[in-house]
Amino acid sequence: MAKQFKNYIDGHWVEAKSRKTFENRSPANQKDLIGVFPLSSGDDIHRAVTAAKKALPKWSLMPAPKRGEILQKVGEIMREQKEDIAKTMTREMGKVLTETRGDVQEGIDTAFYTAGEGRRLFGETTPSELPDKFAMSVRVPVGVCGLITPWNFPMAIPTWKLFPAILCGNTVVLKPAEDTPATAVKLYQILEEAGAPPGVVNLVHGTGEETGAALVRHKDVQLISFTGSAEVGREVASSCGKDLKRISLELGGKNAQIVMEDADLDLALEGALWGAFGTTGQRCTATSRLIVHREVKEEMTKRLVAAAEKLRIGDGLDKKVEMGPLINQAARDKVHRYVEIGKKEGARLLTGGETSQKGKLANGFFYLPTVFDRVKPDMRIAQEEIFGPVISVIEVKGFEEAVEVLNGTCYGLSSSIYTKDVGRAFRAMRDLQAGITYINGPTIGAEVHLPFGGVKNTGNGHREAGTTVYDIFTEWKSIYIDYSGKLQKAQIDNVD
Ligand code: NAD
Repeated sequence: MAKQFKNYIDGHWVEAKSRKTFENRSPANQKDLIGVFPLSSGDDIHRAVTAAKKALPKWSLMPAPKRGEILQKVGEIMREQKEDIAKTMTREMGKVLTETRGDVQEGIDTAFYTAGEGRRLFGETTPSELPDKFAMSVRVPVGVCGLITPWNFPMAIPTWKLFPAILCGNTVVLKPAEDTPATAVKLYQILEEAGAPPGVVNLVHGTGEETGAALVRHKDVQLISFTGSAEVGREVASSCGKDLKRISLELGGKNAQIVMEDADLDLALEGALWGAFGTTGQRCTATSRLIVHREVKEEMTKRLVAAAEKLRIGDGLDKKVEMGPLINQAARDKVHRYVEIGKKEGARLLTGGETSQKGKLANGFFYLPTVFDRVKPDMRIAQEEIFGPVISVIEVKGFEEAVEVLNGTCYGLSSSIYTKDVGRAFRAMRDLQAGITYINGPTIGAEVHLPFGGVKNTGNGHREAGTTVYDIFTEWKSIYIDYSGKLQKAQIDNVD
């Protein structure tokens, strides 16, 4: 009998009202059934939002340092359970154990960083323009927050949203990705054990089209924080726009690594491999374009292909494995569709370009590490997000062209340049159109205390993590205290 998982609403583990369920199977082996989860509807969302609304007044009055203490405890429990959570995550989403450990560690780091923020959450004081008057601005909670997350960072991304949201005095309803519900359950078991009061954190499983959309539309939800694809982000944003609902969006990328002729090629190669094939290329910050100076292009490409062909593919729970499967059949079909498009566009397929189904891999969604050469910047494989282990090599004549090519897509999340020339490095920091730029590092490797997000179609101007996430989850309130004992009129009294 399959293990039954539940929603978490108002401090209780409950089934969906309809009692319908959906299955969660391992992408490395479809015969491995992890469990069945509630297929929730608008009714379940309504129940969760009602609980969150009821819990809001008391929670928002709890001093922020006390709310932070709960998050401190959450971080400590997560640390104790790190290995167990990582194994669950590898089983349900496929990336290798070293990477899922990193994903959990990101959650732990976020818990401790956010806990400390409970003693900061700084506002500002500033002199008033009038005598005997005091002026300051403070942060106040927004209200009930709806959090919608993807499957590729099943612990890190929910924690980036949930921890700052509740630290600021909001209450939340999380709708995790349907491919990774088990990791979300682990997070909520920890929140419960750490003492999050009933109703403050709620979890509702289900599909995006039904459960997610119901959360977005609910009239008592004041804020939606969404991470996922640009297509769905657009839909969610237009729904929020109609209701004038606050929304933060973290969307797709088409990240590139530039390799100049003076680069340390060993380092650049290691970076490209990790950037392109880590998490099977399914990171929002994955390297999907390698922009290489023509003087080193042959050498770099040859070494990249040789290294890609050596990568060990398989079940991420196996210590020897370096690259796991894609998340599901639809993802594998999409990757393969792009490979066919690339070939038709005239790019040269150097390695990969097919599924990997030998022996133990027969029941999983495996795909070979794929390298395309002779890619032109305007080809679809160089413009659209593939979200798989596919890297396109684009040759350039010099630095200016490299920057132009890197900037020439509708996305702007992460960017990287390998060079020993300090002047070029500084010009890249200035000129690359991206939310994140790495010098002599791959496009992946963000740390939780710096802002995370991108420009152009990667988002709508917000940044998660760092201190900037608090601008998502709080409203600013300006306060004036007049102790002059008379009516003072700003701008009007204050004339020469
Ligand atoms: P997705 O857009 O398909 O789904 C994301 C979430 O939205 C899921 O929980 C899904 O159930 C839900 N959803 C789907 N349709 C919905 C609707 N109509 N209304 C409300 N919710 C809905 O994305 P995915 O496949 O889970 O994740 C991959 C995408 O996420 C990639 O594009 C990747 O670049 C992006 N991503 C971005 C970041 C970032 O921080 N910028 C981080 C990770 C992933």
